[in-house]
Amino acid sequence: MLIHISEIIKEGREKKFALGAFNTFNLESTLGIAGAAEEKKAAAILQVSEATISYAGLKAITHIVKTVAKNQARKARIALHLDHGKKFLSVVECIKAGFSSVMMDAADLPFDENVALTKKAVDYAHKHKVWAQGELGKIVKEPLEIEELRRNPEKFLTDPDLAREFVRKTNVDTLAVSIGNVHGFYKMKNGAPHLFLNHLKEIREKVNVPLVLHGASGISVEETKKARELGVQIVNIDTEIRMTFRESLSRSLAEAGANGEFDPRKILEPSIKAIKELVKRKIGDFGQ
Ligand SMILES: [Zn+2]
Repeated sequence: MLIHISEIIKEGREKKFALGAFNTFNLESTLGIAGAAEEKKAAAILQVSEATISYAGLKAITHIVKTVAKNQARKARIALHLDHGKKFLSVVECIKAGFSSVMMDAADLPFDENVALTKKAVDYAHKHKVWAQGELGKIVKEPLEIEELRRNPEKFLTDPDLAREFVRKTNVDTLAVSIGNVHGFYKMKNGAPHLFLNHLKEIREKVNVPLVLHGASGISVEETKKARELGVQIVNIDTEIRMTFRESLSRSLAEAGANGEFDPRKILEPSIKAIKELVKRKIGDFGQ
């Protein structure tokens, strides 16, 4: 079933698990993620990015998630969230579409501008009883930035004092932090950098809202567990879902080439199953 994010955050805090926030991009990934939550009778966040909204259409992807959550995942508790909203308009449109949580990602802007835009989004969200996530610090993605993060982490990490000021000024409900976590595919081949757990501890001491670990694909179970113990309540998984989809589809297409299969449902079904297995494992890793 579809549920407000505040309820599953509360459940996570009480039962001491972190919520997996899984990116969906089409029907197949939605069936895989929601199917995993259903089999585990678990709570999970399904999130879409602006890129997915451009690809599928906001109404289409929203209805897919809502309908699958309602009809094919009755024992699961699923919240719908906008991941990395860069435009205020995306925040507004997703709230109108029925999301219970939105992210305003203005982390590339100078601190004061980040505060101003995030606060605008938070105020709008709260007026509609929706939660808002902000981001402070730089979560890198490009290879050169990742190398620079290894050499000079302090350039990128979330400053604990600024984090306190950011939360106080914006009133965000959840905060995405940079603690050595990185986005994207590059790290999957070259090894994810380690998390700066002491830094996370310093942030936790200054900030009360649930912390969000972006770019968690490829981070070890052990490190994720430690991050969970230090206040991370949401763990984002995107890259591993996309990789799993691609690998499974490549295999299916190779087999279809050999045996002449042309039914797209038979070609795509293994991808749903592969994503489901991945997400079940992640939900377990995060403590449910
Ligand atoms: Zn992210």
